[in-house]
Amino acid sequence: MFENLTSRLSRVLDSIRGQGRLTEEQINTAARELRMALLEADVALPVVKRFVEEVKRKALGAEITQSLTPGQEFLRIVQRELTATLGGKAEPLNLRQQPPAVILMAGLQGSGKTTTTGKLARLLKEHEKKKVMLVSCDVYRPAAIEQLLILAGQVGVEVYPSAVGQDPVAIASAALAEAKKQYADVLIVDTAGRTTVDEEMMREIAALHAAVKPVETLFVVDSMTGQDAAKTARAFADRVPLTGVVLTKVDGDARGGAALSVREVTGAPIKFLGVGEKSDKLEVFHPDRIASRILG
Ligand code: GDP
Repeated sequence: MFENLTSRLSRVLDSIRGQGRLTEEQINTAARELRMALLEADVALPVVKRFVEEVKRKALGAEITQSLTPGQEFLRIVQRELTATLGGKAEPLNLRQQPPAVILMAGLQGSGKTTTTGKLARLLKEHEKKKVMLVSCDVYRPAAIEQLLILAGQVGVEVYPSAVGQDPVAIASAALAEAKKQYADVLIVDTAGRTTVDEEMMREIAALHAAVKPVETLFVVDSMTGQDAAKTARAFADRVPLTGVVLTKVDGDARGGAALSVREVTGAPIKFLGVGEKSDKLEVFHPDRIASRILG
């Protein structure tokens, strides 16, 4: 992720030479390169505009630290702004609630919801020693229910049974009652996604949210969808209060623009990155580390 942005940004630096204060001309040239770099990385246009304006404003007012060249100073400003746009600091899952804490998974079909449900179950079980229960509310696709069963079997966590044709809200409510009975710490509710945003899916996720009152509602989004990721994110954020984002398929995405856009349009922190298909391929998202990585 971000390979292209990184190489583009090195050209920003090349455009700033010499010593002393950053000149307005240098800032304008570098800002143009920065804008191009972000657009090429498939960051959504309003986000690019705001980002570049902010960097320019800060660069114009910047006092050059004695030990830094103007190029380094500009880079430092970009790095700070990147970190801030990516959310500042890492935001862990919030499970501080009377157990079972419910995590609701939302997102389009194919975004990686079920895979991520399995990954989260593994993480919570192995690293946090939580008793985890899973449930699939995808009553439209038998393959989705089957996939969750297989993942749960691999990870070694229980699944509340569900079947095609049942009512998703009834399944989720019954799963929550069962999770309470079994003293589970966490119940992860996987939901049905469709290939595009539609009203029925939105009504269903809102109804599930109202029924199980999740402490975490995670929006799962395929990073390779670039600008569309931002649009989908907004559509979901308008209907259910998202508490976090999981950006998936980051291992196949060289551009990385979705990370910058999705955070900004939802206001919800990116909590995890999906970096592969296997159940251990989930990374906690650290904005500062990612920003450093982008800048090479
Ligand atoms: P769902 O329809 O949202 O539940 O999506 P799935 O969990 O079924 O994932 C769709 C496809 O994306 C599957 O082939 C997954 O193996 C794949 N996938 C999910 N997350 C990742 C990831 O982080 N990296 C890669 N490379 N593939 C992923």
